[in-house]
Amino acid sequence: MAEALSDHDETDSIDSVVPSYREEAMGDDGDIINSAKKMRASGLSYEKVKVFSDGKCAEEEAVKYNNFKWTCCKINDTEQGTKKYYKCSFKRGSNCPAKIYLLFHASNFEVTLFQAIIRHDHTRECKQTGIPIEVKNVIIELFQNGYTTPKAILSELDKLKIIQPKASQISNFLVTLRKKLYGPAQISLNCIKNWCIEKSIIPNDPDECFVANYYIKDDDANPLFRLFVTTKNLMKNCLNSNHVCADATYKLIWQGYPVLMVSTTDKQCAFHPFGMALCINEQTDDFEFIFKSLQITVEKLYNINYCPIILVADTSGAITNGFINVFNVIEKRIMCWFHVTKNIDTRLNAIKDKKMKTELRQDIEFMQLIKNETIFDAAIKLFQKKWKSKKCPLINNFIDYFINEWYMSNKGWFEGFAIGYPSSNNALEATNGKIKSLYTFRERLPVGEFLSVLEKDIIHQLSRERNVDDIVTSQNAKSFANTPSINLSLWTSTYHWIKEEREVIIMKNNDGKKMHFIESSSFQDNYEDFNKEFMKKLLYNQQNVNWCDFDIMKGEQLSFWECEFLNESENWIKSTCSCPACLKYYICKHIIGLAARYKLCSIPLEAKNIPLGQKRKRGRGAKAKKALIVQ
Ligand SMILES: [Zn+2]
Ligand SMILES: [Zn+2]
Repeated sequence: MAEALSDHDETDSIDSVVPSYREEAMGDDGDIINSAKKMRASGLSYEKVKVFSDGKCAEEEAVKYNNFKWTCCKINDTEQGTKKYYKCSFKRGSNCPAKIYLLFHASNFEVTLFQAIIRHDHTRECKQTGIPIEVKNVIIELFQNGYTTPKAILSELDKLKIIQPKASQISNFLVTLRKKLYGPAQISLNCIKNWCIEKSIIPNDPDECFVANYYIKDDDANPLFRLFVTTKNLMKNCLNSNHVCADATYKLIWQGYPVLMVSTTDKQCAFHPFGMALCINEQTDDFEFIFKSLQITVEKLYNINYCPIILVADTSGAITNGFINVFNVIEKRIMCWFHVTKNIDTRLNAIKDKKMKTELRQDIEFMQLIKNETIFDAAIKLFQKKWKSKKCPLINNFIDYFINEWYMSNKGWFEGFAIGYPSSNNALEATNGKIKSLYTFRERLPVGEFLSVLEKDIIHQLSRERNVDDIVTSQNAKSFANTPSINLSLWTSTYHWIKEEREVIIMKNNDGKKMHFIESSSFQDNYEDFNKEFMKKLLYNQQNVNWCDFDIMKGEQLSFWECEFLNESENWIKSTCSCPACLKYYICKHIIGLAARYKLCSIPLEAKNIPLGQKRKRGRGAKAKKALIVQ
């Protein structure tokens, strides 16, 4: 062990030994995604019905072809040209199988209309059409009698022996109902406007709330309002980081309008808000307004051009577009992983085979922890190959959905996509939850009271909790952490890890960087000796994405961690490691353990006094594998 650590073999560069044959390796299975698409599209046969000389006429006719109502459902680029598909939508939520498409020929300006050889069927109804009108009327009555939550309404419907709609349907219906009952009529735009004007001056007190930006359009037919509130202390957080967390899923609702928080996180995964916005909607314009507010306020306060490069959000395209409209570029668009899991789990419920479902979920969780994009892309292909080969229609459906939604459209949810940045917005969600329970935030407050709560109870408090300069609050203030923290339990697990005496090999990686390669706890489930030969083979496979089986790849990737250790007295804590803990929390027992072995830090006595638990198991064990995935 000590030998391995002191081995500074500088000449042993993997790069010079291994020829690259990337092209060949890709050729075999590089087309999986394309062929999957073709298979799906080939379900219906189409016949040619009409040729148009220009696209506009074609589109105008297509939407009312044969006196049916057609809506565009997808667009495909093919060799012949772009195909724009329409489905029959005789009624909202209908499920008629009839389809047509327009082919915009690639080689000339003609457009051809094709129709699927299948009959219309207007008897089928999608089960999720909505709440029947009779039930809606009952809900309205219940609502007016004080049953204002989905739970209360469900229980009343049960008593009345009325078939319950889904709770989510009721919840959506209540939002519309509230808007109808109390909406714009009760909100005096004048009241909001006067408040905004009054609060627009930037106060001296760093924790006093002010309106950084507002937009009010007093138009009877189409009134609009947007406002952004913050404090000087909260705005400081903009200077500390270059990523923004904004999420339309995690929000507060007031009178049916979204109250959105924009924020960032620090190296201890703590949450730091910039401020809050009240908007009439969640469209691109609204997010553009929010980001613009940040930009002009930073400019005003610090004379700095604020330009974050990374956005963490749910799938909302409006947030992305709003961000780009203000900051021009977006380097990385991180997809909130919790948002992904929520969606995936709903879809996975269609698969009845429990064992399959669990394994699928574990494979996806493994992919979430992948350390870079090249490996991730390879993993996705192998994952698709593995599960498609089971030839199970339900699984095929899921894989198609997964690839389409969470690879082709939104892939920024794995850790290696942006190392050192959060992969989810759960800190934001937790804070919203706290605001709901701790502060006096109520969905139905009259406008004057709401603005006062926003100012005094929410914004002022969030700012106050983070004031490190004020002698009164500094003891408990949540300061912005630029390095991760090490608590007692992490010291203890570090101490245990050192005692386990895992192999550590120092070698150059594929980029020529000197790395510490660490034997993982699941290494011995699959392999014998953790040595240079083994690591060379694995690095070769990694460099050339030289895998043809998902599970083999998974086993290899989980057998070692790659640690770029900074052997410097001050900076070692900024080292990086590819293990799951470090990807999520920016610090791990491996980094601290190496630091301890290089005598850059010492493990506190109290951590050593906690008795070692069960000794590490030698040899194969299904339990060890599971523990790793959960870790
Ligand atoms: Zn139809
Ligand atoms: Zn680690």
